[in-house]
Amino acid sequence: MAKYDVAIIGSGPGGYVAAIRAGEIGLKTVVVEKDPYLGGTCLHVGCIPTKVLLHHADVYDHFKNAGELGFEVSGVKINWPNILERKDKFVKKHAKGIEFLFKKNKVEWVQGWGRYEGPGRVSVDNNGKKSTIEAANILLVSGSEARSLPGIEPDHKTIVTNRSILQLPEIPKTLVVVGAGAVGVEFASIYNSFGTQVTILEMLPRVVPVEDEEISAELEKAFKKKNIQIFTGAKVESAKKDAKGVTVSFKDKDGKPQTIQAEKLLLAVGRKPMTENCGLEKSKAKVERGFVHAGPYMETDEKGLFAIGDIVAGMPQLAHAAMMEGIVAVTHIAGKPTQPVLKTRIPNATYCEPQIGSIGLTEKQAREAGYAVKVGKFPFVGNSKATILGSHGGFIKVVSEEKYGEVLGIHIIGPLATEILSEAAATLNLEGTIDDMMNMVHAHPTVWEAMGDAFASVRGLQINV
Ligand SMILES: Cc1cc2nc3c(=O)[nH]c(=O)nc-3n(C[C@H](O)[C@H](O)[C@H](O)COP(=O)(O)OP(=O)(O)OC[C@H]3O[C@@H](n4cnc5c(N)ncnc54)[C@H](O)[C@@H]3O)c2cc1C
Repeated sequence: MAKYDVAIIGSGPGGYVAAIRAGEIGLKTVVVEKDPYLGGTCLHVGCIPTKVLLHHADVYDHFKNAGELGFEVSGVKINWPNILERKDKFVKKHAKGIEFLFKKNKVEWVQGWGRYEGPGRVSVDNNGKKSTIEAANILLVSGSEARSLPGIEPDHKTIVTNRSILQLPEIPKTLVVVGAGAVGVEFASIYNSFGTQVTILEMLPRVVPVEDEEISAELEKAFKKKNIQIFTGAKVESAKKDAKGVTVSFKDKDGKPQTIQAEKLLLAVGRKPMTENCGLEKSKAKVERGFVHAGPYMETDEKGLFAIGDIVAGMPQLAHAAMMEGIVAVTHIAGKPTQPVLKTRIPNATYCEPQIGSIGLTEKQAREAGYAVKVGKFPFVGNSKATILGSHGGFIKVVSEEKYGEVLGIHIIGPLATEILSEAAATLNLEGTIDDMMNMVHAHPTVWEAMGDAFASVRGLQINV
């Protein structure tokens, strides 16, 4: 008899959410976590600390632009140590919150390095002290870490990652960000607000390359207006540290060699799965460049071994994707009905300024998939609440198929994009059509009501532009 129904390796959003749901539905559950605290990348060095800093940057932007709102504000100073302390306080509080939720749901947890040791067995190594856990089902949720570039290793002082940039004792005067995915553009946005001269180097032809092309173009325009320097199509070749910081050499999009000097260099070039030394070689699980293949209920090719979160092949590396994958896996283990997580129904939220929220197919993807595509677009300049907020840049783009008006994708850049994304996610998940959505009553005046105009714009029936 196995001692536990479920053993979970890793306590990030994939692991802790799976554990709490498993406890709620009566599965005897244990979590193995190498760190002395719970919460993983998301809570300690990812989603939460970056969003705290983005909020502070937003508040500071309001102070800087107070004149536009009719205030006379002077003498505002950034107290960086206080900001870092506030961030750390929230992180610690939430980690304790997860411990509380574990207790509440009778989830046990042990500290140590977890390894799959064959069907039903996980070994735990806590600084040489070894033990074994028996469990009928095992979830590997070991997460990811920052990639580096060949020849450019982070020293975590001058060349930093998402982890070490959170420890910088001072705001740098100059910063080069390599990589313009979500992590890169969020940090670029934070430091730009705090007065750093930021330069972004992106190898691909556009920033936020997973987004719709028009979103990338709008973000590039907005960032350049804020004085963020952007080089797309840039191939970084080397980074040499010196007394002043670092000199980055790259070839620009025309192949011309260029150099930039900065105090700090942030590597934001993607995340590699942490699946080494987790015992996968002892299983039939299919592993490709470190990523683990999983079926619709997240089970790998090894019966009873499930893969969740950032380590899963072909799924986005997002906290909410990991959370739902964990819920699906444990619900399936408990023999209760559940639905597989569909990639096209996972929202993307990027919290730079301006924010981006998107879900479903981009216009290009919809055309490539063979749909007869009909697109609508509504600019926030026509939304009264956006004007009140003083933030009316950006737009909502709706991608639909022509015959039945099914909504295939929604792409938002502008005020509260990551919040009004909720309607976009509901639309895609409930397979809404343009007619369903343009006839829904939206409250006025809200930023959210721009969604109604965006759906109507597919039929050329928008009211406010
Ligand atoms: C700067 C940054 C900002 C981000 N912002 C967002 C955001 O706003 N929204 C969003 O959705 N996503 C965001 N992400 C991505 C998000 O953090 C990840 O998708 C999410 O954390 C993945 O969850 P996970 O449970 O798979 O792994 P992780 O959160 O990485 O957790 C894995 C856990 O497993 C532990 N572990 C690993 N190996 C072992 C082992 N062998 N034994 C025991 N324990 C082990 C680790 O210590 C860790 O606690 C961000 C990421 C970064 C880097």
